[in-house]
Amino acid sequence: MFDDLQGKRVLVTGSTAGIGLDVARSLVKAGARVVLHGSRHADEAEALLAELSAPEQVSYLQADVRDTQQCEVLVNQAVERMGGLDVLINNAGGLGGRQGLEGIDDDFFDNVIDLNIRSVVMVTRFAIPHLRASAKHSQQTSSVITTGSIAGREGGGMGACLYGGSKAMVHNLHRNWVKEFTKDNIRFNTVAPGTIDTAFHEDKSDDLKKTIAGSIAMGRFGQCHEMAPTYLYLASHAASGYITGQVIDVNGGQMCP
Ligand code: NAD
Repeated sequence: MFDDLQGKRVLVTGSTAGIGLDVARSLVKAGARVVLHGSRHADEAEALLAELSAPEQVSYLQADVRDTQQCEVLVNQAVERMGGLDVLINNAGGLGGRQGLEGIDDDFFDNVIDLNIRSVVMVTRFAIPHLRASAKHSQQTSSVITTGSIAGREGGGMGACLYGGSKAMVHNLHRNWVKEFTKDNIRFNTVAPGTIDTAFHEDKSDDLKKTIAGSIAMGRFGQCHEMAPTYLYLASHAASGYITGQVIDVNGGQMCP
């Protein structure tokens, strides 16, 4: 499946763990060239690269994507390593802690917004010229896929108003970029996970996890390997070349928008 991903040049932000790592792994299996990214030092990612066992296909870059300058360096280095960019996957993000509205100070605000919004806006901004060039050269669409969230649909859990709001903004940013960049043959889609079993939920007790699982039609958390195929589908021009501006919910029926 997704044969046209063979040789595609893909940057996956936030791919040292969780959903992003599984997406990167699946892309490598599909024959893509992948730059993995995370906040960990390159030495710590060595084991990860070895595990992917495709040294010619993968490399790793460290950057804190809350910082605009680091976003620019990340994109430029990824392009340098792969000789261009066909697909950008903005997956880095996170809760950034929980805080009720009355407890939100400037530091908390900046951290959540920088992590989930600045990162997506700036990495995409610096990637656009390369994605445009890729589409022009290949005469096929290039693709931006960003990880949104069910929280962007329903507001997020207690103490996560900024996280939920930031993910709603991610969903909407893409709708705008469709208007600006479809002429350049760049597609923009969002994957909105429900509750997926990753470190994201490590602050929750087992009882709370059970309660949440009970609120999901399928009665369980999703697994990372159940997320990755949707990203590959949206990355593949052959599979999804006419799909842009969509939010694809992968949530076991937790919410049916
Ligand atoms: P995770 O914690 O396992 O992975 C997060 C990844 O982002 C890691 O690779 C980490 O290195 C990277 N990252 C975090 N902060 C960073 C920073 N400042 N700079 C660079 N990299 C940074 O979590 P996950 O659950 O796999 O989350 C991946 C994405 O999915 C996030 O955008 C998250 O908001 C979203 N999401 C997760 C769930 C869920 O239930 N797990 C639900 C909805 C959305």
